[in-house]
Amino acid sequence: MIQSNDGFTIHPIIVPTKYSLKSFNFYLLKEPNSLTLIDAGIDTDECWGYLTKALSENGFSVRDLTRILLTHNHEDHVGIVNRITAIKDVPIYAHSDSIYRLKRDKDYFVLRVEFYQQLYKEMGCGDFGERQIEKLIVLMKKNANNVIQSDIIPIKELDKISGLTVFETPGHSPDHIVFLDEQRKRLFSGDHLVGHISSNAIVEPDRNGRRIQTLRQYVHSLQKCSNLDIEIVYPGHGELIENPQELFNYRIDRIHQKSNLILALIKDRFTTGSQLAQAFYKDKYNSEFALVMSEIIGHLDYLESNNKVIKEKKDGVWHYSEL
Ligand SMILES: [Zn+2]
Repeated sequence: MIQSNDGFTIHPIIVPTKYSLKSFNFYLLKEPNSLTLIDAGIDTDECWGYLTKALSENGFSVRDLTRILLTHNHEDHVGIVNRITAIKDVPIYAHSDSIYRLKRDKDYFVLRVEFYQQLYKEMGCGDFGERQIEKLIVLMKKNANNVIQSDIIPIKELDKISGLTVFETPGHSPDHIVFLDEQRKRLFSGDHLVGHISSNAIVEPDRNGRRIQTLRQYVHSLQKCSNLDIEIVYPGHGELIENPQELFNYRIDRIHQKSNLILALIKDRFTTGSQLAQAFYKDKYNSEFALVMSEIIGHLDYLESNNKVIKEKKDGVWHYSEL
């Protein structure tokens, strides 16, 4: 698993999980004068144990880390950051849109609740949608103290950190970035590209509460990466991906296929987001509401921006029809 040349060595840390993600992956990157950690798993003793073991097997300790790079703010990518910085004040780098999320900015989180409340209402989710908001509030309160303690240094498109170049790849999350070693044609992809499952482009508000066109962004980010010269991808979950261009294109094709299926349902007179989600996802509408609605809304926005559908508001609910 160890990939080494020119004093540039990658030690993948693969923590298995029984869930469909298969594993939480993060990476130690040894260069001649630095030791970088890319992503940081989930906050469990197991992940922590895997990190300390990987470090000690290579003759290092947590104190030898030079920096931490984060692909995005999700909890399964930043889990053990605080455990690390409790031992050594390692600089943390992430996209600027990660920072207020990781710092649990109160204004932003109030705005998020209002955003989803309004969104589910307009998508026709009714009382069921309201109950989901109550669940969201409970979850957010539970996570309120889950704050990254150290300062986070913002990075952006084409910044260079050691041997890596930053590429912004919003879609799966608005703050998502990937790290490319252009010389060795290696990409650290986070959740932007995973081999065995497709990533969700999760619908979210921006800092001003406006809905981000996440699926549109995701397709654009996939297209962007399909044009990069990459031989191997180190993803946030599952196995390494060789020659990923085909997979980038396959993911784009699948999104277009799904959009067409949803368009067919609209032609079939399912008009609201809620109706479409129930028709397309059946029971998952109840069991995985937020994810399912996110998918449908993403596709509705995508179809609308591609001039395939129009929407009209009746009694506070958007109704979509074929253009
Ligand atoms: Zn993620």
